[in-house]
Amino acid sequence: MGKIVIGSGDWVFVLTGAGISAESGLPTFRASDGLWAGHRVEDVCTPEALELNPALVWQFYSERRAQGAKADPNPAHIALTELEAKLGDRFFLCTQNVDDLHERAGSKRLVHMHGELAKSRCEDECGQPPVTDRAVYTSLDEVGRCACGARLRPHIVFFGEIPLEMERIQREIGRATLMVVVGTSGSVYPAANYVQWARQGGARTVYVGPEPPLNAHAFTNVVEGKAGEVLPGLFVVET
Ligand code: NAD
Ligand code: ZN
Repeated sequence: MGKIVIGSGDWVFVLTGAGISAESGLPTFRASDGLWAGHRVEDVCTPEALELNPALVWQFYSERRAQGAKADPNPAHIALTELEAKLGDRFFLCTQNVDDLHERAGSKRLVHMHGELAKSRCEDECGQPPVTDRAVYTSLDEVGRCACGARLRPHIVFFGEIPLEMERIQREIGRATLMVVVGTSGSVYPAANYVQWARQGGARTVYVGPEPPLNAHAFTNVVEGKAGEVLPGLFVVET
């Protein structure tokens, strides 16, 4: 396996997807025929689902919270923390994951473009900021309320909703000279376009995962393997 050499002038943008948490025991999204942990995404990850069946949506995210709390960061999450320690501000991590394994591994320069399992926010978007909420609710009656009185919803970007922090993400991609994408199928937009944006800026682009993603053609390099096995030895940082 070739090494990726990171020079003193390189700025690194990392995008991760569900695959980086697979070795921590969290199921990926399309692991089995488009189901996420046994559910059709339309039933649990859309604004319509929240409107029609909030009990099921909350049951699903409560289960994800319970499962996430039992999982630990794996060597891939830790390798990214170590890379950040070497690069400082020349490192930026954007995850599509809603679990908190990156921050529990120690990542700091990190955004969750699809939200966070450990937070909830107002269902009516009244303007109150998201609150920390790791509760595993067993019924809809238990779900907390916003200061305005509306019910809380998971702080998750559902399909059809606009991802978070897009301006910052575009700025970081704009100055990246190396993009590393780990464990994402390349089927969810806009994240699947980041590699194109990076290439337009002249960056090298590397994919790491056990199989080529749908947008494999857009990468300058595809490293096939599990994230936890590949990432720890992949980078050589020149000083
Ligand atoms: P995806 O489920 O569509 O694709 C997973 C990808 O990971 C696949 O390409 C697969 O080949 C790869 N993979 C599997 N095992 C791997 C390993 N050991 N190392 C590296 N790669 C591996 O995931 P996605 O593209 O991230 O889209 C899923 C969406 O659903 C995301 O937007 C995310 O918010 C959500 N989701 C989040 C989590 C989580 O937070 N852990 C889990 C499932 C889904
Ligand atoms: Zn409110």
